[in-house]
Amino acid sequence: MMGHGSNGVAHRKRLRQVPQLHSSGKEMIRIPKLIYLKMVEHAKKESPLECCGILGGRDHAVEKAFELQNVYQSSVRYSMAPQEQLEVFEKMEKDAIEMVAIYHSHTHTIPFPSETDVKLAFYPEVSSIIISLKEKDPVMKAFRIGREAICLEEIEVIP
Ligand SMILES: [Zn+2]
Repeated sequence: MMGHGSNGVAHRKRLRQVPQLHSSGKEMIRIPKLIYLKMVEHAKKESPLECCGILGGRDHAVEKAFELQNVYQSSVRYSMAPQEQLEVFEKMEKDAIEMVAIYHSHTHTIPFPSETDVKLAFYPEVSSIIISLKEKDPVMKAFRIGREAICLEEIEVIP
């Protein structure tokens, strides 16, 4: 079992129903432990290339993870395969869930959005999750990347 101590597992703060504040609203995303572990495994499996995927759910709570191909097959950037993206959107629509996050890995850098990540963040209402494999223990962090600011989001790992 890998550690997940630095990811706010024990936090029990409720998500406030705040409007779309870009810089000061404290947001949170909830990820079931099995999905969390699956994402880490995905990152490790693709390493040294960056992995990428989509998380579907409701109200900032993740219910499903979809692994996608990184069409760049690169260790410094990613792009989700468009056809797979379409299929995922169709599946989510069928399940009546929404895209709540996009995740990718940083295989040798810290879990913070790169310049490219910021440039390519098309969905400010969707969380950007980065799994860093830089250190021995993987670290996962979530962000909202807006035009004006990058906000750190708390990740709560739920049973
Ligand atoms: Zn990145």
